[in-house]
Amino acid sequence: MSIALRHRRLAAVCLPTAAVLLLAVLALAKPQAQSLDVVIANGRVMDPESGLDAPRNVGISGGKIVAISAGALQGKTTIDAKGLVVAPGFIDLHEHGQEPRNYQFQAHDGVTTSLELEVGTADVDSWYAARDSKSLINYGVSVGHIPVRMKVIGDPGDFLPSGDAAHRAATPQQIAEMRRQIEHGLQRGALAVGMGINYTEAASHQEILEMFRVAAKFRTSVHVHLRYAGMLEPENGLTALEEAIAAAAITGAPLHIVHVTSIGLRDTPQLLAAINGARQRGMDITMECYPYTAASTSLQSALFDPGWQERQGITYKDLQWVKTGERLTAETFDKYRKEGGSVVIFSIPEEDVRLAIGDPMVMIASDGSRYTGPKVHPRGQGTFSRVLGHYVREEKTLDLMTALRKMTLMPAQRLEQRAPAFRDKGRIRVGADADITVFDPQRIIDKATFEEPFQYSEGIQFVLVNGVAVVKDGQLVDGVFPGKAARAPLTQ
Ligand SMILES: [Zn+2]
Repeated sequence: MSIALRHRRLAAVCLPTAAVLLLAVLALAKPQAQSLDVVIANGRVMDPESGLDAPRNVGISGGKIVAISAGALQGKTTIDAKGLVVAPGFIDLHEHGQEPRNYQFQAHDGVTTSLELEVGTADVDSWYAARDSKSLINYGVSVGHIPVRMKVIGDPGDFLPSGDAAHRAATPQQIAEMRRQIEHGLQRGALAVGMGINYTEAASHQEILEMFRVAAKFRTSVHVHLRYAGMLEPENGLTALEEAIAAAAITGAPLHIVHVTSIGLRDTPQLLAAINGARQRGMDITMECYPYTAASTSLQSALFDPGWQERQGITYKDLQWVKTGERLTAETFDKYRKEGGSVVIFSIPEEDVRLAIGDPMVMIASDGSRYTGPKVHPRGQGTFSRVLGHYVREEKTLDLMTALRKMTLMPAQRLEQRAPAFRDKGRIRVGADADITVFDPQRIIDKATFEEPFQYSEGIQFVLVNGVAVVKDGQLVDGVFPGKAARAPLTQ
């Protein structure tokens, strides 16, 4: 045995385990460095899980992050991210617009995974099949109590109920059939159970409880638009929240409250306190909001049944007709409610928006709309840039890392018990999916407004989905479809 070899052996025995592991990783990394697909060089890498906030080079191969290094990396393609933030791609838990055009706007807003978890679908297989190999960004859906109820009871509405599914109580047989269909959707890989009790107001507390029971059986979160919005006792946001918390406590199903500000309105502080209180008692409850002072929905839905002005604390002029942009009057309200279409509802006080955005427990989700006219709500196009540009940079409502956590790690964690693939999303970590958003923190801002909603956000320079660039130098890339199904494991 030569002296040199003997020394090496001794060194190997004496080195602490961590150092040995490091050497092994370096030895493995060296040949790999030659074959990296993409390197994002010199960016400020921000990872909310590890707390990393430092200049790093990120190496990507095979759609995964394979290296994060302070030293140089070699790749077939290099993205220069000097002066830019390199963050996990944003995960939107609540986006109704799930068409190619919506995905383009969302990609420009930094979203790499777009999920429709509130209304959801009654046909999980068809929903995923329609997007297979055709999607710019990742996509996923819940099985929805609203569409299932519309199917079982029958309703003329095309998205939200406007007839019996809103206004008729279900028979025990119909409730059993809804249970069966929700269960089937979960067996087919739906990410969650969606619910909009405000739109199905005839659904009894018992019916709601039965749906929670199915979710609990699958350890699946229920994403709920609560039974009431507003401040009119006893039909207000707080009593509605109590119903959902009770259902979660009785059944054990995880609970997610959607758009807490448009439910709470001026009572948003009480809702946040109640949810945070239940969390402190050990319940698995999360929530989301969007960064706007207006809501939006169908005018023919149950939200505008008689008494809406008192319940929501608004009147006709606070409603904007999406097809024209006009504000409504008593006459046009009646006319358009018969005709059918969407309105933007100016009902949420700015201080309550700011409170929810600044609460570290509230996730960011857009609630973006399907195309219902030229003056749709801008939230589907600008939510994430608006939080980062307006609320982080301009208003200093919260710091950048906290904001990123609310749009990456927290939504991933919400879903990872149900769909373990989410353990590799929402993070800049070796082994994570290469869903990455690269933006200029000094320039990022939403451009979509209530007057001109179809405008791309600015300052998002590069967006990668599964390692493939869908936005490059601030421009959409044509003809690429790297989006994959975000789906829970199939059990049937
Ligand atoms: Zn909703």
